[in-house]
Amino acid sequence: MTKFEALGLQESLLNAVADMGFETPSEVQEKAIPILLEDETDLVALAQTGTGKTAAFGFPLIQKIDSESRTTQGLILSPTRELCLQITNELKLYSKYEKSINVVAIYGGASITEQARQIKRGAQIVVATPGRMKDMISRGLVNITKIDYCILDEADEMLNMGFFEDIKDILSNTPDEKSTWLFSATMPREVSVIAKKFMHSPKEITVGDKNSGATTVQHEYYVVGGRDRYPALKRLADTNPDIFSVVFCRTKRDTQRVAEKLIEDGYNAGALHGDLSQNQRDLVMNSFRKKQIQMLVATDVAARGIDVDDITHVINYQLPDEIETYTHRSGRTGRAGKSGISMVIVTRSEMRKIKAIENKIKQKFISKKIPTGMEICEIQLYHLANKIKDTEIHEEVENFLPAINDVFQGIDREDLIKKIVSVEFTRFYDYYNKKRDLNTVDSGDRGERRGDRGGNAPTSGSVRYFVNVGEKDGYDWMSLKDFIRDTVGLGKEDVFKVDVKDSFSFFNTDADATEKILSTFTDFKVDGRFVNVEVSKNPGGGGGRGRRDRSRSGGGRKDRDRRSSSGKGRDRNDSGKRRSKRSSGSGSSFSGNRRNKRKSDFF
Ligand code: ADP
Ligand code: MG
Repeated sequence: MTKFEALGLQESLLNAVADMGFETPSEVQEKAIPILLEDETDLVALAQTGTGKTAAFGFPLIQKIDSESRTTQGLILSPTRELCLQITNELKLYSKYEKSINVVAIYGGASITEQARQIKRGAQIVVATPGRMKDMISRGLVNITKIDYCILDEADEMLNMGFFEDIKDILSNTPDEKSTWLFSATMPREVSVIAKKFMHSPKEITVGDKNSGATTVQHEYYVVGGRDRYPALKRLADTNPDIFSVVFCRTKRDTQRVAEKLIEDGYNAGALHGDLSQNQRDLVMNSFRKKQIQMLVATDVAARGIDVDDITHVINYQLPDEIETYTHRSGRTGRAGKSGISMVIVTRSEMRKIKAIENKIKQKFISKKIPTGMEICEIQLYHLANKIKDTEIHEEVENFLPAINDVFQGIDREDLIKKIVSVEFTRFYDYYNKKRDLNTVDSGDRGERRGDRGGNAPTSGSVRYFVNVGEKDGYDWMSLKDFIRDTVGLGKEDVFKVDVKDSFSFFNTDADATEKILSTFTDFKVDGRFVNVEVSKNPGGGGGRGRRDRSRSGGGRKDRDRRSSSGKGRDRNDSGKRRSKRSSGSGSSFSGNRRNKRKSDFF
């Protein structure tokens, strides 16, 4: 008897298991499958990503479904379109020897009528993203009032992405007597709230360490020259306008110096180290908690007591001497089930240390490039545009409007937008315009295509795009790559250099795919939101520098002077108290006609 047989799976499923090449059940499968087959019970299962959770609920679900009936009996909620499709495909493989089990995926960004049609044909199992599911329920396109099983997959991720209300709504449409199976990598408070609220004395299984947040932290390194640490740090901050971070230095002196420089350059920074009085340290920590300080520069010893949950980035300005210390540093982010990024600025000679850390933490680092000046400009512009869009209008503004309108008289909307965003763009552009690439030669070029770096020819066969979705929308580089490839219908290697930021991303394709890409993403919506793809102004994709448009740099010096003088003057004294000088940037792409015309004239 194989180990899978011992779990109680029926013949047809065992055949499918064999076809899939699964030999031994994973731990979560071994624990969950017998429970789910034997009892009608609620279950909370905690296991890290990649431990085979899909099969742990998939096999029991299929075995329990009545395939004679067309009624929808099982609902699986999952955070992203990619996961929905993945689960659906897996379930189809598991059920290949069942007579007539239909599994239908429901997710945003694809035709709702087509999905409704598939449901109507009879789907015993529905795999859905919460947003689209809610939509379909409210339109009466799906009926989940008779389900026996509801599975919340990647529950922590769904809650992270803000689906709590949607899930609540969806569950209110399901019968009380169903069984609910919750699968999650971590158990943050929000997940236990769901478990308490919607489940009846669930059984609990845990694989590995319950509170281990290891996989929620992504580790990245950036190779630069020894003297470029500070400019590299600035670029990392400029690439992440909403950064909330701890920057680790090795000595008290470096800590103080880096913090001072950041403050001088207009960032919301503060220093935390042992030479400060207790009172000073309390002040700094209070400002940090209130997010008045976005970049807390600290020594390892001083940072020990930091108990702040939402830290987005840990930046290793220098690597620590002890490998063990790295674990403590990176553990400051990715807490409470949130994801985080630990960035390391290294020189080539320190690369050995990266390997040693990888062995220690049993996780791979991703080799990243310090963004080029133009990438930063683009990011900042987009951030500014979003900020303008989300700004609440102050009612007092009304009183001044007549006079303001006089000033803007005769300027049309498009020009006005261009002018508004140029206020910031010019500042960043002038600052970064003449700055060189900080990446050391042949550093981290893994996977890079030859020809992309062609000095004067900005595109040389490869086109870089900007897309307005990112981590916030649940993408990482792999899933975004898949999404673009699948949506446009491209081949396996056609999308490359995918770089996912918080709320937007970049990627490359060969030039001959550009038309297809742009036409696919015209008026294209996912979960009710427009997904917009533009040709990026920065064709190299993190690597190349190219031509500059001289006519654009007129007036540059004046603005740069203004930037530095204001940085050194007003901002210096009241470090943590005021918002940063660098607010943000403006969009690359406000009018469609700029798309191609401007593609190459910045560089
Ligand atoms: P999780 O949901 O926990 O992140 P998945 O269910 O997506 O993990 O499974 C990860 C990968 O492992 C999939 O490719 C799956 O086919 C494979 N897998 C699952 N169970 C087994 C098993 N018992 N033996 C071998 N491979 C498995
Ligand atoms: Mg999974």
